[in-house]
Amino acid sequence: MTELWTNWAGDQRCAPSTVERPRSEQQLIGAVLRAVARGEAVRAVGSGHSFTDCACTDGVLIDMSGMQRVLSVDQASGRATVEGGIKLDALGSQLARHGLALENQGDIDRQSIAGAIATATHGTGARLANLSAQIVGLRLVTASGDVMELSGESDHDAFLAARVSLGALGVVSAVTIQCVPLYTLRRRDVPAPLSDTLAGVEEQAEDNDHFEFFVFPYTQIALTRRMRRGAELPTPPPGWKRYLQEELIENWALGLTCRLGRGLPRAVPRLNRLLAGTMSVSEVSDRAYKVYATVRRVRFTEMEYAIPRARASAAVERVLALVERRRLPILFPLEVRFSAPDDALLSPAHARETCYVAVHQFQGMEYEAFFRGVEEIMDGYGGRPHWGKRHYQSAATLRERYPQWDRFQAIRDRLDPGGTFANDYTRRVLGPVSPDAAVDR
Ligand SMILES: Cc1cc2nc3c(=O)[nH]c(=O)nc-3n(C[C@H](O)[C@H](O)[C@H](O)COP(=O)(O)OP(=O)(O)OC[C@H]3O[C@@H](n4cnc5c(N)ncnc54)[C@H](O)[C@@H]3O)c2cc1C
Repeated sequence: MTELWTNWAGDQRCAPSTVERPRSEQQLIGAVLRAVARGEAVRAVGSGHSFTDCACTDGVLIDMSGMQRVLSVDQASGRATVEGGIKLDALGSQLARHGLALENQGDIDRQSIAGAIATATHGTGARLANLSAQIVGLRLVTASGDVMELSGESDHDAFLAARVSLGALGVVSAVTIQCVPLYTLRRRDVPAPLSDTLAGVEEQAEDNDHFEFFVFPYTQIALTRRMRRGAELPTPPPGWKRYLQEELIENWALGLTCRLGRGLPRAVPRLNRLLAGTMSVSEVSDRAYKVYATVRRVRFTEMEYAIPRARASAAVERVLALVERRRLPILFPLEVRFSAPDDALLSPAHARETCYVAVHQFQGMEYEAFFRGVEEIMDGYGGRPHWGKRHYQSAATLRERYPQWDRFQAIRDRLDPGGTFANDYTRRVLGPVSPDAAVDR
């Protein structure tokens, strides 16, 4: 019987011909070779936390959840080799036992490591690059069943392509991560006037290890979040305090307000002001991997754009003005983050000091008019979309935004000439696979 697959948000679905669940690299190779022998396409899936159809296929879906082992840890070099399916939450606690940690993380930890790097998942920190930049080596199972060991020293171009690959080059069976010594994060949230926040945004990004802010449309208050890294012992808050903040305020109250707004869209500006009124000063100090991750129970869809950091304030002002001008019922806050440049060929932060602007819409509510309007604004800044979040770009509009586009395509033609790892998403955003078609891209 056909097994249906859906993503976390519940809005991307597919019916793969087969779902394979390998528990070792050998089994993974077997699954790829069986698919190739039948002439079927292959897609790996991690946690299904992307908002695009990037993990979808009607061919063979390789569910990586059986490959979650830590293979080796070298405390002296700080390098850990782990299977591609390991989830970031399990990784964080296992690294901590060795006195190690990821250098930076995003705001949830449910993703698999290989799925997260495939779309260039990032956190915030103007001096810190995305997760894929922490990878120093990876093992890639290609359509021929060969395992390529890629690193800075071995097939450098393929390594730079495979770090952020959209799953289009093969299946990542294992990665080696350059970790840092276990550290403590002190997070301080402070509501501040939006105008002040926007005026000092670049300085704030520079002056803090991690800086970001959230702003609800129709309000003039931003919730600023600063995180400082340190070696001191953590002083975690009592469980009840975290429960109150994360479960009751950030999830239960938000979910209730979203459901009210979905039924009564005209009330959204007032509901947003109500939510903004609940924002208060708060502090958390704990081991970093416990601070980065928040609980997200309210389901939504999302678009996020990487733009030059210097355009951050102007872009945020224009997005907020768009919502107000069109009276759009947008219940979720904008989230604004920062990242250092990196060298992965298809990283949205490639060679550019980056600001990420994310917009969201509650599950079941119309989002397209808003997202298309936001995209038009971001187009004006040479915006590069997050590969795992909604966007309407195609290879034709994207190629000029990536200085190393042709280099990536050359690697793709070399590693996957038959298009085994293509799907509708890669055909849209990367173009066709055949080397003969390369001139058309
Ligand atoms: C609630 C929520 C919060 C989020 N927060 C952030 C955030 O803070 N920062 C951010 O940048 N993003 C964020 N995201 C987006 C998310 O990090 C990315 O979409 C990420 O790619 C999801 O990881 P995954 O393991 O679920 O991958 P999937 O969605 O399962 O797959 C993503 C891509 O990776 C490919 N892939 C998966 N495994 C492999 C493998 N082993 N080998 C080769 N290719 C593979 C898939 O084919 C697909 O193309 C968030 C998403 C959600 C739902």
